[in-house]
Amino acid sequence: METTTSLLNRPSLLSVELRQVKLPGLGAKSLEVLSDSGVKTLAEFLMFTPLRYRIKSKLSIVTDFEEGSSYCVEGLVVGVNSRGKVTKIKVKDNSGHLFFLTFFHFTSWHHGRYGLGRRLQIWGEASYYQGLWEMRQPEIEIITSESQFEPRVECVYPKIGKITSKMLLKAFQGFWRQYQSSSSASLLQILDSLRIMHAIGLSAQEVMSFEKLQAQAQKKLSHLEALHYFSYLHQKEALLHYQGEPLASGPIYQTLLDSLPFTLTQGQREVLKELDESFCSGSLKPHLIQGDVGSGKTILGFLALCRALDNQQQGALMAPTELLARQHYDNFKKLLPSHCQKILYLSGSVSTKEKKNLYSLLSSNQPFVVIGTHALFQDEVKFHSLRVIVVDEQQRFGVKQRAQLLSKASRNLAYQITLSATPIPRTLAMATYGPISLSLLKEKPAGRQEIKTYTIASDQQQIVYKSIRNCVRGNQQCYWVCPLITESEYIQAQNVEQAYARLCEQLSELRIEVIHGQVPIANREKILESFRRGEVDVLVSTLVIEVGVDSPTASLIVIESPERLGLSQLHQLRGRVGRGRHQGYCLLVYDSQLTSQALERLKALCESQDGFYLSDVDLKLRGPGEVLGTRQTGQIQFKFFNIVEDEDSIPNILEQCRDLDQNSKSLLNEFFGEADENPYV
Ligand code: ADP
Ligand code: MG
Repeated sequence: METTTSLLNRPSLLSVELRQVKLPGLGAKSLEVLSDSGVKTLAEFLMFTPLRYRIKSKLSIVTDFEEGSSYCVEGLVVGVNSRGKVTKIKVKDNSGHLFFLTFFHFTSWHHGRYGLGRRLQIWGEASYYQGLWEMRQPEIEIITSESQFEPRVECVYPKIGKITSKMLLKAFQGFWRQYQSSSSASLLQILDSLRIMHAIGLSAQEVMSFEKLQAQAQKKLSHLEALHYFSYLHQKEALLHYQGEPLASGPIYQTLLDSLPFTLTQGQREVLKELDESFCSGSLKPHLIQGDVGSGKTILGFLALCRALDNQQQGALMAPTELLARQHYDNFKKLLPSHCQKILYLSGSVSTKEKKNLYSLLSSNQPFVVIGTHALFQDEVKFHSLRVIVVDEQQRFGVKQRAQLLSKASRNLAYQITLSATPIPRTLAMATYGPISLSLLKEKPAGRQEIKTYTIASDQQQIVYKSIRNCVRGNQQCYWVCPLITESEYIQAQNVEQAYARLCEQLSELRIEVIHGQVPIANREKILESFRRGEVDVLVSTLVIEVGVDSPTASLIVIESPERLGLSQLHQLRGRVGRGRHQGYCLLVYDSQLTSQALERLKALCESQDGFYLSDVDLKLRGPGEVLGTRQTGQIQFKFFNIVEDEDSIPNILEQCRDLDQNSKSLLNEFFGEADENPYV
């Protein structure tokens, strides 16, 4: 067993496993529990910071009290009064003022301890209730004749197993007693911020100004964390090969352009120009195209794929759902009838025989474009010359999945174009996806209308049924979406079946169909096809229709439990209607128990049609995790840095990254983890 002091002389002190270091208070069992919660090394241990603090910097008296603030008070019990389960203890503070302690579970043990005549040291939050000051469920220590008030700060740590805050405190103190001999100034600097965070060895002065000091320490750590993260991005950038062979456009590209049944918008033309520059200069820096629902991103992806064919190479388009992949496949073939043979489709539901055939085609030296789902990046798939990769609805894929597809290209040298309808601010995009070219498609094709959106409480369903009848009477169709997202696919299907049954009962004169993940893809397509042909009036579904599904005669979408979804997602959903010449409507049928804040969020959707604005609202209200989807957030789980609130500081941090020397980098790596070799972030 090494002592901490000797470990300090080693270059990688902080990556030492906790169990190799003797820390007081933590036995083998506790170490195991910590390790199970991801606290394995000294660095991880030091980063295990308190949830909150009890700042007992001075003794207060009742006249100091302000509503909602916490205080440490000494006082004498002058009355105990129990009524039912509630017990109120009357206490006289050192200045003779009275206040009450309220307990909701007061046992005979408590009665014995906190009885009349006891002197107590109390810590709790003051509240003014019916003309009197009280503290609810305060923490109490009994004062004995020797005890004396000592200014201090106590840490409250997140609960892990049976490990108490006291045990952790002892361990941290143990570490600190030994670390002080450490010589490296830069290490000491970081450690000192952590010392404050753990409230260890505080001087009287530090206790007095603890709030301020703690905020400073937090800020310092947040800055270091960001510095580490962004310099790690720089490092990743170096791992990416940015130069490949140019891919000029040719006759197939031109054929597709000429066959378009519409003229491109100004925005689309601009993005095409940006792409053209990359393709012609051989720049492989990935392009992320963000554009609102219906802004026409798909065609940009199609055109990029044509370049592969024009150069006798291969391309792939990956979409998150089979339905969407299928739709892209059909559309692409329709737009390029003379090149149908070169367009392939691959998904999990393709037969084994057909898959084998596809695999051999792709590994041959023929030019192909393959459109598909997650099936595209499976091990068995080998491309002969994958040069262009388009990922639709890229926020639906994880980093690894995108990296896996890229690895199908020889030496990872492929042009990558990702399409996303969840717009996020530039800095957040950079921080999440690393070095990319970001293109915004703000403008929508002419003639796109606003989707009139209304909220309706779930006990007013009759209004909804009436709207559906009106819609159908005008020869239009309706989507009914049940986004039960937290439960399993199976339960989700059940839920939709229930909604389906209810609608069949309420609207028995209408033609209603249901689709969800459990319905075989072939059937789903049949249903969608008849929906498109106008043979189905109401399509009840889960979120399977969320992305891409296109039916020009659908004009009404009803969304149940909209509060479960992000605004961007809702915005995307309502983009399913109003695609033809009919006015589109969206009804948000919310649970009548909804909080006013949640309702506010939905109102934002009623009032705005701007996907960029809505995603910003979500970002501020719910944080990047919700906006980017859980898959992405794993990559940017900052402990201290707040990428939304601290966004403005990012350019400055990027600047500082350039000057970071190797020593500082390794030091940061020790605290915040090593960079991996994956070229993606
Ligand atoms: P999204 O950006 O949401 O993926 P799509 O690419 O699916 O949007 O386009 C939505 C619809 O708009 C499609 O039917 C597409 O053919 C059509 N579209 C695309 N660009 C234009 C345009 N410039 N003018 C008119 N319609 C367009
Ligand atoms: Mg799309």
